Amino acid sequence: MFRIGFGTDIHRLVAGRTLVIGGVVIDSDLGADGHSDADVLLHAATDAVLGALALGDIGTHFPNTDERWRNAESSEFLLYAVGLAKERGYEVVNIDTTINLELPKLRPYIDEIRTGLANALRIDIGQVSVKAKTGEAVDAVGERRAIQAQAVVLLEDIEPRDR
Ligand SMILES: [Zn+2]
Repeated sequence: MFRIGFGTDIHRLVAGRTLVIGGVVIDSDLGADGHSDADVLLHAATDAVLGALALGDIGTHFPNTDERWRNAESSEFLLYAVGLAKERGYEVVNIDTTINLELPKLRPYIDEIRTGLANALRIDIGQVSVKAKTGEAVDAVGERRAIQAQAVVLLEDIEPRDR
């Protein structure tokens, strides 16, 4: 038994915030604005895992009106979602993601980001794909007003049970 999940996220880019992607601090003059650490990749991945389980979205589980999550590390959200999957007998087979960011170029960070995402999901780096694209200088991403991410995750039921 397999289940597939999809997640997407967007954050505004502003001055005076640290840019964190997949738990990795990126050298950038602009950072993602948000209630938590605003890690767009981990938020998309969390939504993908919750989506695969049909358990709502990140806002359902971690409302941004809740002071507990102010400046929270987003790896907490993803670990929680993976915990819900484990409770139900599922483990992550693989995850494929894309980050949309105009600057800086993420190529030098990709393996570190893959490692960060793999650690948050408790899987091996070989199960984690992270791709990066620019916005071709158009729209919110291209004009450096936003960062976006998409994630697709596959879960497999690994719990042996009578059928
Ligand atoms: Zn987010």
